[in-house]
Amino acid sequence: MDVQKDLEKVIELTREQNKWRRVEAINLIASENVMSPLAESLYMSDFMSRYAEGKPYKRFYQGTKYVDEIEVLAMNLMNEITGSKFSDLRPTSGTLANAAVFRILAEPGDKALIAPVQAGAHVSHTKFGTLGALGIEHIEMPYDKENMNVDVDKAVKMIEEVKPKFVVLGGSLYLFPHPTKELAPHVHSVGAKLVYDAAHVYGLMVGKVWSNPLDEGADFLNVSTHKTFPGPQGGAIFSNDENEFKKVSRTIFPWFVSNHHLHRLPSTAITALEMKVHGQEYAAQIVRNSKALAESLASLGFNVIGEHLGYTKSHQVAVDVRKLGGGTFVAKTLESANIIVNKNLLPYDPPEAVNDPSGIRIGVQEMTRYGMKEGEMEEIATLMKQILMEKKDIQEIKRKVIELRSRFLEVKFALNYDLSKYNSKVIPMIM
Ligand SMILES: *Cc1c(COP(=O)(O)O)cnc(C)c1O
Repeated sequence: MDVQKDLEKVIELTREQNKWRRVEAINLIASENVMSPLAESLYMSDFMSRYAEGKPYKRFYQGTKYVDEIEVLAMNLMNEITGSKFSDLRPTSGTLANAAVFRILAEPGDKALIAPVQAGAHVSHTKFGTLGALGIEHIEMPYDKENMNVDVDKAVKMIEEVKPKFVVLGGSLYLFPHPTKELAPHVHSVGAKLVYDAAHVYGLMVGKVWSNPLDEGADFLNVSTHKTFPGPQGGAIFSNDENEFKKVSRTIFPWFVSNHHLHRLPSTAITALEMKVHGQEYAAQIVRNSKALAESLASLGFNVIGEHLGYTKSHQVAVDVRKLGGGTFVAKTLESANIIVNKNLLPYDPPEAVNDPSGIRIGVQEMTRYGMKEGEMEEIATLMKQILMEKKDIQEIKRKVIELRSRFLEVKFALNYDLSKYNSKVIPMIM
């Protein structure tokens, strides 16, 4: 029967995915992570089937009394670990968090200044993405090649000349922190607002190895809840400015979400608690690991970018792989040995190079969450050398990758709770 065949196919594909990415692969995609088993168990709940349009206790639907409580609890916990007064967890992704804030700060035809693309600006900051969809003009601030960052002096001049409605900092290929406290007074002096997009580095910020933009003058802090912050996929907006925050929060529903994927809320709250307890240890290990990986790769002959700046201050490492076949070839070759990275434009690449850029971007946060330390980063660097430079047999290296991964299958920095006493019918993940 067709139904039976398709049914088996669906189950088979899900099993294969779980086995490959959860058990057998070394995942180094910088924007991904895993939840703890507890957060995952709570992810599958009745909340996933419900609506709760509006804000807690002011809904347009009945049946939401527990949604109201969990949403307020999750918002409070997230505020506590973020050091913020106000939070909104309804954006279902970081991109929507950006859309909601950008839409309030500017009208179509207005101007926004963004970090230069070479310093990591995300597509949602540009005319090709969310800003473009909102009709807001983006102007890139000047790039400082030497510091691989926003050129502060030139950016200050530009802010004073352009008088934008808002300025966006934060990035996707994000090795070194953008100059938030340096630019904030100048942004405010022309009546503009400063939006910090910490999608990638929110977990590092909560773990106190990355400074808190809200303490450095940012008016809004937008995040993803699933990159270095290891929660469910989603977005959030934080602010300490009640007036500005209220304007945004009033419009999230109905402008950007109707249902807001309520099943994220318990898992987000659990992850916030995990970060409250273990966040500092977790974030500190991430940064030690990214440094260790960069140094190991460099010592083996890889062209790791940013040497003069110590390679990285985040969870990311960027490698120029032009001499090894280019970003596309290298990412695919590593994948065939179960090491998962993405190809990435490097600061000196033209935008047209997007299909075959010079680099790869590596993120160590997920493997750190599974307990890997500096020693394992050296092992990963060696495996990459064997694949890309020594051209050893891919199948043989793949076996070594699976063996290394098999020693790190348990999520660390997690909270545990025995759910069995509830005779839970939570469906376990199939493998
Ligand atoms: C990943 C990313 C986003 C988008 O996040 P989603 O949650 O995937 O929508 C926004 N901004 C930056 C800087 C990012 O890196």
